Amino acid sequence: MRKLIASLTSALALFAFSLPFSVSAKSAEFFTIGTGGATGVYFQVGNAICKMVAKLQSSEHGRKKGTDKAYRCAAPSTGGSTYNIGQIQAGEFQFGVAQSDWGYHAVNGTKPDKVKPFKELRSVFSAHPEPFQIIARKGSGIKDWKSLKGKKVNIGNPGSGQRGTFEVLMEAHGVNKSYFGASSELTSSEQSGALCDKKIDAYGYTVGVPNAGVAQATDGCGAYIIDLTTPQVKKLVADNPFYAFASIPKGTYKTSKKDVTTFGVMASVVTSASVSDDMVYSVVRSVFENLDDFKKQHPAFANLDPKKMIKDGLSAPLHPGAVKYYKEKGLM
Ligand code: GLU
Repeated sequence: MRKLIASLTSALALFAFSLPFSVSAKSAEFFTIGTGGATGVYFQVGNAICKMVAKLQSSEHGRKKGTDKAYRCAAPSTGGSTYNIGQIQAGEFQFGVAQSDWGYHAVNGTKPDKVKPFKELRSVFSAHPEPFQIIARKGSGIKDWKSLKGKKVNIGNPGSGQRGTFEVLMEAHGVNKSYFGASSELTSSEQSGALCDKKIDAYGYTVGVPNAGVAQATDGCGAYIIDLTTPQVKKLVADNPFYAFASIPKGTYKTSKKDVTTFGVMASVVTSASVSDDMVYSVVRSVFENLDDFKKQHPAFANLDPKKMIKDGLSAPLHPGAVKYYKEKGLM
């Protein structure tokens, strides 16, 4: 990480600015970014954003001219995508990370049984791709979708994106939970431990690559990710704009002996139309102005490209505060 060496001049400059800053800091506005399990990638996204917000706010150049508003944020661990969208709708969170499929269903009201219709959902930017992965226990004998029949499978906690996507996958294959020998609703931070302890045979997880939680199972107890390329998966990809084929490259984890093919979504940062333009602008500016630093926060962010972040995998219209920044920077 880059270290800032404070020279005498900048220390003095900081001091000089500390007086007006302490006055405006009183009006610091606080916001929350909903993430996912603590071992997931969303937690890294949310916390990297808050770090960038703090970085920009603490440097005088970063303060927006003509305003004394400062922002601070927290990015707590949560249940995941659909939980985050619900909390944004309720006004409890101002931002959240969410899968593109659930963003789409929220804004269009197309799966009201899984995510409450929320027309005012807005996009801020898209982040990393998230393949839907079935991680199977070493010795479980699971090699494809069919062989999950009768096994102990974790389908994810309610509120998580993977829970909803797993249900869509079951529906597409014309089965329900009873297809499995047993199903559980463990959270993403519990599932790898349960797999290695042989309490479950497999779990489904929509998550960025690489991920520490998955590594706990693959590198820790020899678990592996299976291909998901059934005709039903192909149809899901063909029929829905928010799905795409995705691959987990050979070598990603200790047990990744070959590329794995599955389907996936994009993770994006979302907000509500009722969140102020200034707040959204400030978040976008903090991230885009420190993009190199942001990319270093997690390997899943390494390929972030500003042009794609404002377009790819965005299921809801962009928030006007974000559009303002993208236009100013000539990105739009
Ligand atoms: N995609 C998952 C969800 O929506 C979260 C993945 C993560 O935590 O990185 O719940």
